Amino acid sequence: MDETLDAIIVGGGMVGAAVAAALGQAGMSVALVEGGGPPAAIPDDAPFDLRVSSLNLASQRLLEEVGAWSYIPAARRCPFLHIEASDAAEKRHIRFNAAELELPGFGHFVENRVIRRALWQRLAELPGVTTICHAGPVAWVPGGHRSLLELDDGRMLAARLVVGADGAASHTRELAGIATRDEDYGQRALIINVRTRLPQQDVSWQRFTPAGPQAMLPLPGQHASLVWYDSAEATLAREALDDDTLRRAIEHDFPARLGGVEAVLGRASFPIRRRHAERYVRPRLALVGDAAHVIHPLAGQGLNLGLQDAEALSRRVIAAFRAGQDPGSRAVLAGYARERRPQTLAMIAAMETFHHVFTGAAPLRFAGAAGLALAERLEGAKRQVMRHALGLQR
Ligand SMILES: Cc1cc2nc3c(=O)[nH]c(=O)nc-3n(C[C@H](O)[C@H](O)[C@H](O)COP(=O)(O)OP(=O)(O)OC[C@H]3O[C@@H](n4cnc5c(N)ncnc54)[C@H](O)[C@@H]3O)c2cc1C
Repeated sequence: MDETLDAIIVGGGMVGAAVAAALGQAGMSVALVEGGGPPAAIPDDAPFDLRVSSLNLASQRLLEEVGAWSYIPAARRCPFLHIEASDAAEKRHIRFNAAELELPGFGHFVENRVIRRALWQRLAELPGVTTICHAGPVAWVPGGHRSLLELDDGRMLAARLVVGADGAASHTRELAGIATRDEDYGQRALIINVRTRLPQQDVSWQRFTPAGPQAMLPLPGQHASLVWYDSAEATLAREALDDDTLRRAIEHDFPARLGGVEAVLGRASFPIRRRHAERYVRPRLALVGDAAHVIHPLAGQGLNLGLQDAEALSRRVIAAFRAGQDPGSRAVLAGYARERRPQTLAMIAAMETFHHVFTGAAPLRFAGAAGLALAERLEGAKRQVMRHALGLQR
């Protein structure tokens, strides 16, 4: 324990591993403490997992910069060039085309486990990064020059900075005494992996119904991840259906444009909650990703926000390190919190508006549909919305 590391990252999920890769690549000494094991290899022809994320251009850029993007095989990622939203009757549409915005595309849909595996492959190449699996923190002691972290295997680590990247139920956040503001939306999302009758698609669409949104996220080949939001009761009933009954329910309730479902390949449901940490930093400690914020998944921005945290924190920490300054100083961490909290608050506010406008009272729903039509006409507004969603607003 005599050694003082530059950083300890708690949580080797996608966001924690991205911070570790960025700092390790800059030549810093880093310990990554992960409660589970290292991610397993995924054969190119393995069935698609249910947890899939849209990686926007800013997230892709970060993964490229830390040297992980090249480990995501083309066979496991699906690029998308169009995004569409419509009202329940599909009378009003808004469509975003990457080409119109002079972009190569909007991003890719990739399984979470593939992103995580790619990052860990990169970590294995970085001599300054040590991974400690099947371990978690039991105590955190802040100090003037370093933070101490005691692990449940009895080890004691010391570092100039501790980063809590241990997800929505972050124990690091708890040890640091940071409270959260929580809200349960009273909805669940049913994620269903299907084999589609249509060939691979390059559009992701979302239809807003009074019960909640329905979304199609394309996956490689004739595959898609469908997301069906509804009340907890209706979702749990649907989740319990056998594969063929669920397949027929999708064909009946999803828009015809889905083009038919050949088979249901898997399903799982998640409660929809919001959680926001009251602060992102304490002396020599910072929270990133879901440890700091869990947002409504309807716009698929949770991981993108987390990766932007990873980018912002590592950019500031590395700048201090390179300048021979203290990378865990109060000034570095305060700058990080000042940069990221307003971004997250803006995203939370946008998700609240979407949720209430499209699933709220009838007049508000009408406003939602009218809003879609208006936004379609307002090219400038459309561009702004899009740039924000793509993480290009910095
Ligand atoms: C239904 C649904 C759909 C979503 N869709 C999208 C989408 O399309 N796009 C998008 O951007 N986001 C999406 N999200 C959000 C996205 O999944 C999360 O924001 C993202 O997984 C957060 O990553 P993370 O690394 O912060 O946390 P996690 O992925 O939760 O990783 C935390 C890591 O910490 C480890 N850990 C936990 N506790 C400890 C401990 N005590 N000690 C050590 N290690 C610990 C865990 O084992 C894990 O490896 C969705 C979320 C939901 C619920």
